[in-house]
Amino acid sequence: MRALLLADGFEETAETSDADVAIVNTCSFLASATQESVEATLALAEERAEGVRSCPIVMCGCVPSRYGDALRPELPEVAAFVRAEDEDGIVGVVRDVLALAPSAPEGEPPATLRTVEGASAFVKISEGCDRFCTFCAIPYIRGRYHSRPAGDIVAEVRSLMDGGVREVVLIGQDTGVWGCDLGEGDTLASLLRRVAEAVRPYGGWVRVLYLQPEGMTDELVATIRDVPEVLPYIDIPIQHCSERVLRAMGRPGSADALRELFARLRAEIPGMVLRTTGMAGFPGETDEEFEELYDFIAEQEFDYCSVFAYSQEDGTAAARMGDQVDEAVKLERTQRLVDLTEQLGFAATASHVGERVRVIVDGVEEGEDGPELIGHAWFQAPDSDGAVHIACGEAAVGDVVTVDLVDSFCYEMVGEIVGEGD
Ligand code: SF4
Repeated sequence: MRALLLADGFEETAETSDADVAIVNTCSFLASATQESVEATLALAEERAEGVRSCPIVMCGCVPSRYGDALRPELPEVAAFVRAEDEDGIVGVVRDVLALAPSAPEGEPPATLRTVEGASAFVKISEGCDRFCTFCAIPYIRGRYHSRPAGDIVAEVRSLMDGGVREVVLIGQDTGVWGCDLGEGDTLASLLRRVAEAVRPYGGWVRVLYLQPEGMTDELVATIRDVPEVLPYIDIPIQHCSERVLRAMGRPGSADALRELFARLRAEIPGMVLRTTGMAGFPGETDEEFEELYDFIAEQEFDYCSVFAYSQEDGTAAARMGDQVDEAVKLERTQRLVDLTEQLGFAATASHVGERVRVIVDGVEEGEDGPELIGHAWFQAPDSDGAVHIACGEAAVGDVVTVDLVDSFCYEMVGEIVGEGD
């Protein structure tokens, strides 16, 4: 949307008081995200009502995708709604709202612009999901699974690398099945090899997130093990391990199958770092089933584990289940998992003290003892895990430096530069 609007002659401003139109890009994954999106929109509308500014508001993204026309009467403050799938039409909508004449599209659409600067970039490889887990609204919001063609992905990766990026993080709601709707031979493993080739001349890395457990094919495991640019870091959301709860969630698997998978990954991929996601308080989850999840996470000693309390999402099958877990119980279980995963995560972080690693420099921050470089090592996914804090040293964003990890606190590491990256 930024690229399209800028190509049409609009200018971007971070100050809402300077804007002719305000665009709110929304998330609706959870009820709490929807609420935050609506509150941000209403806060803008309130400024307008107070005469601070008078620009119209355009609400884009997943909230309009999810709630459609039902939003109009609820949010009369909004001049226009743009569903995620209609975002390519943003220029027409903004021109319409501002009563400007339509513009004639010129030539090729502009290349995607990044919304976040820095040395790491997220690259979307697919959209939508066909799994329909019973708690999840995403398939209803983002539609059925479709893979982005490999050529487009590789071209974006090359242009990011030319722009100074050194790590690409491949994302999608279900990355493991990438290519299932493309030609024969299009698998995530084949894509990873192509992306690795694209980042190799720049000394870059590739990370892939959101692999469902069943997506771990032999070919993929071998690619992660054998291609040096592909980091041995795997994010596999398990959500639960109790077979009964998994079935109620509409997900395959069992504790034993997951156990076998993680044992295989750890045995086959040296240094494997594992991230997962667990959910507490799914409808009908008994104390025993929760304890099974708790014990499983403790036993597996995941390096990182995000924990969610089950959220009753409009329109999903689980929201209609009769045996919803009491809110207080849900929160208590969630807190216990958070405490456990912190304990495991802090220990996993500390286990890297003493290692010499390559660190990508992400920025400079004001630390307790003056400015410090902030970067991340291969075992730290940007925006999700901790960072490496480097007390002194000359480096610019995007530089890859060799660092001795000398200390850790919580999920954070303290490092000292010993040289430039290899
Ligand atoms: S696989 Fe993930 S995105 Fe797809 S339905 Fe399940 S939880 Fe939602």
